[in-house]
Amino acid sequence: MLSVSDTETIILNLVQPLNHQRDTEVVDLLSALGRILAAPVTSQLDFPHWDNSAMDGYAVRYQDVQNCSAAQPAVLEIIEEIPAGYQPQFMIQPGQAARIFTGAVMPKGADTVVMQENTHGQENGILILAAPKPQEFVRHKGSFYQAGTQLLPAGIVLNAPEIAVLAAAQCTQVSVYRRPRVAIFSTGDELVMPEQTLQAGQIVDSNQYALAALVRQSGAEPLLLGIVKDDPITLEQTIAHALANADIVISSGGVSVGDYDYVDKILGLLGAKMHIRAAAMRPGKPLTMATFPHHDVADGENNQHSTLYFGLPGNPAAALVTFWRFVQPAIEKLSGLSGGGKVEFVQVRSHDELRSDGKRETYVWGKLQLINGVYEFHKAGGSHSSGNLINLAQTNALAVLPLGTTLIDATEPVQVLQIGKPATMMPVCLAT
Ligand code: AMP
Ligand code: MG
Repeated sequence: MLSVSDTETIILNLVQPLNHQRDTEVVDLLSALGRILAAPVTSQLDFPHWDNSAMDGYAVRYQDVQNCSAAQPAVLEIIEEIPAGYQPQFMIQPGQAARIFTGAVMPKGADTVVMQENTHGQENGILILAAPKPQEFVRHKGSFYQAGTQLLPAGIVLNAPEIAVLAAAQCTQVSVYRRPRVAIFSTGDELVMPEQTLQAGQIVDSNQYALAALVRQSGAEPLLLGIVKDDPITLEQTIAHALANADIVISSGGVSVGDYDYVDKILGLLGAKMHIRAAAMRPGKPLTMATFPHHDVADGENNQHSTLYFGLPGNPAAALVTFWRFVQPAIEKLSGLSGGGKVEFVQVRSHDELRSDGKRETYVWGKLQLINGVYEFHKAGGSHSSGNLINLAQTNALAVLPLGTTLIDATEPVQVLQIGKPATMMPVCLAT
């Protein structure tokens, strides 16, 4: 059986990111939150756009005030008032100053701003009570960035600061990667929709809902195909439909070794290339990963693409854990995110004793909590059976016991994977 890390490597090597020319769309800046930039953005402007004042005060010539002090103030004539947003009308001559406000354009002739706290007003003039430094409180044109500078690289997530940068650069239409399409369906004769009355032996299809939410959180668009009976013909039709309409197909259930587990067989019939049939992890041992290679001729290019198929285990906790561990990174890489696919663990202190049989890499769900300024992992109470979904609620992390580790004692360090956060969110920086 493949190790978790080999499984991860195989999967990520099979993922081809979306094409930065063909797989893009243009969105309005107000709709750009959380999207991934498809092309770098270069500034057309100098920042600041012109020399301006960083303070409320007086625009002066440095040489007029360089030797002044409270005992021997410089006396200057005020020739103009320049609020932010207005063009100065006059040039500052020796012995003159202009009243100026933060963000206002510096008048010609002036090279320095004296903050108003270091001045004293008098009729028709101003006393400068302290010598400024040369060019003090002047923000020079182009001193932050010049026209032609790259402001944002491709492949980044657009959050508030990036959106502000785009707005300031007058980019109101942004080229972003399209959202990957992810088809989702559940398999099992025992499954019913949540609104149906349960008959003996039936169970609600919770995986469809969980996976739809996870796909959306990963920045992709879910395409829900419902519940499919354990029937080879229906299964084949559903998989064929999914392949024709999605970049990634996720099914849950039917990948184990039971008599009614048909998924792998049908994938074979449909010409899939099988890469993974099981991973040495708990929960989540039955796990299928296959690809359907196809050619895509567009713009004169002949591109080899693969639709990725993930057959996740049916057990609800196993379906979620395998999604977080393998599918989310694959979606991230596919989506054009630069560095997408990297799974990052953080080391924290475990509040509880954690156990495993050591035979498979074990994932224990729980909560990262900040206790007296230090992050700790608190194991969820209740059963950790892969069939128990209930205590996954309100967790935000998976602690990992590597192969061969049977015990992590309370207060010992443990590697933790954060879950439930948007894929595009930066991981928090944790102290141990
Ligand atoms: P399977 O992987 O098909 O053998 O299913 C393993 C277990 O997970 C069985 O107990 C199923 O009833 C349960 N299960 C399968 N699919 C789902 C689903 N979509 N939602 C909730 N439980 C499921
Ligand atoms: Mg089943």
